[in-house]
Amino acid sequence: MSKYTMGIDIGSTASKAVIIKDGKEIVAKSVISVGTGTTGPARVIRDTLEQIGFQNIEQLDGAVATGYGRNSIDEVPTQMSELSCHAKGAHFLFPKVSTIIDIGGQDSKALKIGENGMLENFVMNDKCAAGTGRFLDVIAKVLELRLEDLEKLDEESKVDVAISSTCTVFAESEVISQLAKGTKVEDIIKGIHTAIASRVGSLAKRVGIKDQVVMTGGVALNKGMVRALEKNIGFKIYTSEYCQLNGAIGAALFAYQKCMMNENK
Ligand code: ADP
Repeated sequence: MSKYTMGIDIGSTASKAVIIKDGKEIVAKSVISVGTGTTGPARVIRDTLEQIGFQNIEQLDGAVATGYGRNSIDEVPTQMSELSCHAKGAHFLFPKVSTIIDIGGQDSKALKIGENGMLENFVMNDKCAAGTGRFLDVIAKVLELRLEDLEKLDEESKVDVAISSTCTVFAESEVISQLAKGTKVEDIIKGIHTAIASRVGSLAKRVGIKDQVVMTGGVALNKGMVRALEKNIGFKIYTSEYCQLNGAIGAALFAYQKCMMNENK
């Protein structure tokens, strides 16, 4: 009989869940753009269960929660660290991964991955919004843009505008002053991507970058940001349509491992 396991990644900004069949095939996925302490966790669980025709979580063969809000879900008592889940998820999507760069809503991290997807080392920034998705969220709001528009605008830019403020609050004022000077929105966006890439690139260099480099987290959906980071680190960056679900995928795979271990006891 097939085994269905769920991974739930409750971040600061978004709730993500996947269901994997037999540790191999992603059969359900959901992302809700609100994170811990909101209705997001309950909604992604319900969403993914519905996609495979299940009514409740007990019908699954296992579930693991990860992410910043992993301790807050009563229905899922098993938790795993975000770093382990990211390593496992990226190794599932890209078996040759050696470096993961993850940019989420409120933190960014670089992970060094050894053979078989084992986590060897990591560096993390969770102290400052610059170099995280929050920076882009704030700037998009000031410019009255949707996050989905950033990639295309970046592509249209022909001029490099330097954004020198390293702090989100000051960068917001800098963007407003650029607008007042008549700088084009697309050039500002490219400048913002370059500024974030410089921050996150330094983080990744500290962990030691090795091919293949995989980018995960919601910010990897923005290919303008991926290009800026490629330029900064000098490596090709691999992404997948599942980049934001990477932690949830790792969690679902841990749930599958646990279920098989219990079965073989
Ligand atoms: P967390 O796990 O910290 O909640 P995620 O990895 O889910 O964070 O990423 C959330 C961030 O992803 C948001 O802050 C936002 O900047 C970015 N993001 C989400 N959706 C998109 C999109 N469609 N295009 C570009 N960026 C996006």
